[in-house]
Amino acid sequence: MRRKLVVGNWKMFGSLEGNRTLLEGLTAGIGDVAAEVAVCVPFPYLAQARQILNGSGIHLGAQNVSEHFPGAYTGEVAACMLREFGCKYVIIGHSERRHGLHETSKTVAAKCAAVEASDMVPIVCVGETLAEREKGATADVVMGQLDAILSRPDIDLAEAVVAYEPVWAIGTGQTASPEQAQEMHALIRGRLAEKLRNNVSILYGGSVKASNAQALFAMPDIDGGLIGGASLKASDFLAICRAF
Ligand code: PEP
Repeated sequence: MRRKLVVGNWKMFGSLEGNRTLLEGLTAGIGDVAAEVAVCVPFPYLAQARQILNGSGIHLGAQNVSEHFPGAYTGEVAACMLREFGCKYVIIGHSERRHGLHETSKTVAAKCAAVEASDMVPIVCVGETLAEREKGATADVVMGQLDAILSRPDIDLAEAVVAYEPVWAIGTGQTASPEQAQEMHALIRGRLAEKLRNNVSILYGGSVKASNAQALFAMPDIDGGLIGGASLKASDFLAICRAF
């Protein structure tokens, strides 16, 4: 079902002491938030976060997963392991992995299937680079990333989340305007509807902060946000969550 959702992506930040302060700040302030809220933490902190978030209503997620079932894949983490640690969500295809770590759309689709097979919800990130936008290729790039998922018959996207994250807006302080974001969200929604995937929530990500969240979340096809930098301080993240 389409839902209002705000997800924090901590990226590769955190420490046992800092996490405790952040998570306790979130649990203390979450009471008046109407949207569903989740935090996607680095793998080693899943157990700590699970314990502190227990009973708070804030969901837990991971930032990556192996496409493989458990086996001889040194250094990888299987979806069933994330599930065992209480993850509801798994971010896949984040641009820092697609571009920085050369993850392909085919691999992202395989990870999406692995997440669904372990009864978790994939947050599939899609988005164009500045060079792609400037040459007018935004729609083709984003639809191509989406189609890699939609073309696999074993992925149903029944509960899935798509995050439109223009690469030029991530961590740069340069947010897409609400109109630019809405245009892409409507396009994504249209492609999902063609494939009868009408329950997918579509988040916007890219330098969202309390000062721009309300205008973005007011757009008809924006169901919430994937928040990086501003999810690392409880008061900033809660202010965004309250923007609904
Ligand atoms: C992200 O990491 O997905 C993200 C959107 O980062 P930021 O909010 O810092 O741009």
